[in-house]
Amino acid sequence: MSSVLPEPNPHIAAMAAYTPGEQPQGGGWVKLNTNENPYPPSPEALAAIRAVVAEEGARLRLYPSPDSSPLREAAAALHAFPAADILAGNGSDDLLNILIRAYAGPGRPIGMLDPSYSLYPVLAAAQGAGVVKVPIQADLSFDVAAVARCGAAIFFLTNPNAPLGVSFPPAKVAELARAFPGLLVVDEAYAAFADADCAGLPKTHANVVVTRTFSKGHALAGLRAGYALCPPGLAAILHRVRDSYNLDRLAQVAASAALADVAWLSATVGKVRAERTRLTRGLEALGWTVVPSSGNFVLATPSSPRRPASPATGEHAFAFLRERKILVRRFPNHPLTAAALRITVGTPAEMDAFLAAAQAWSEG
Ligand SMILES: *Cc1c(COP(=O)(O)O)cnc(C)c1O
Repeated sequence: MSSVLPEPNPHIAAMAAYTPGEQPQGGGWVKLNTNENPYPPSPEALAAIRAVVAEEGARLRLYPSPDSSPLREAAAALHAFPAADILAGNGSDDLLNILIRAYAGPGRPIGMLDPSYSLYPVLAAAQGAGVVKVPIQADLSFDVAAVARCGAAIFFLTNPNAPLGVSFPPAKVAELARAFPGLLVVDEAYAAFADADCAGLPKTHANVVVTRTFSKGHALAGLRAGYALCPPGLAAILHRVRDSYNLDRLAQVAASAALADVAWLSATVGKVRAERTRLTRGLEALGWTVVPSSGNFVLATPSSPRRPASPATGEHAFAFLRERKILVRRFPNHPLTAAALRITVGTPAEMDAFLAAAQAWSEG
């Protein structure tokens, strides 16, 4: 080559890309590492995709609705929320990025609880914004006053929290919204599996936005769709910085159909919650410590008579499972998670396989 690649912007040169969970090649894996739904999506969603491809194939020639009107209307009906105040995203990661583009930058840091979703700092770095991390306390709660005075322009509250699994009550989130002077984003990626949610807060609190995804509860991680419930005025600001056609036609129709199929969602969530309870009890019976989860995963700390809980024990259990083609996730960089495994709740057969391997490890 005769020329050289120029240097990027200094803040881009200094940052690292997001590290996604492993997507193993080949079959035979029990894949419990990225919180995907173990069940196929709603047949209504699949039928909507087929209809576009088969009957209306020529429509793929045309640009889709620029602001995902059908999906926003479906979300408006579900939440009794003004469609004009709903923003659709190409996955909720797109929404998080749009929010950071509009509200964070040099001198305007983002805030987050620590531990929580490791994508936020990557999106902030790409805008040249700093990150303020407010520690989650030993009781797995957070201090409202500490968040309120953290100095962030925009704060991301992952609720239920990932990777811990705990959820924070809506009344506490509302209290935080009143105390925090910036924009409060409640990232509700796992709300479908929880007992309560904050979808009503943007109606009563002018600085709260709630983000939802189709990747977890609706089993459409491969599609890329999500939406944000915004307080009045926010959506108009966010439209300025999003991609002009940020959801493709297939994602728009499938997500709309998935949202309307409330019976599918409640049946699927019921199955996942039943297995979550069985997984939790099974691991506790083996002597593991399990954080009570409101998501489709549990954070569990392995220990056995031979191996007390420690980061090295967590690593050992992870490797033992991996040898048996069971993939879970570790978060070694935080004291609250370093000794633990995060296990996605799977089908009954997958949980049988996991619990059998966990028992073999515990007795080994
Ligand atoms: C999975 C997840 C998301 C991302 O959802 P996508 O719609 O797939 O982009 C956002 N936030 C948290 C906390 C998640 O776990």
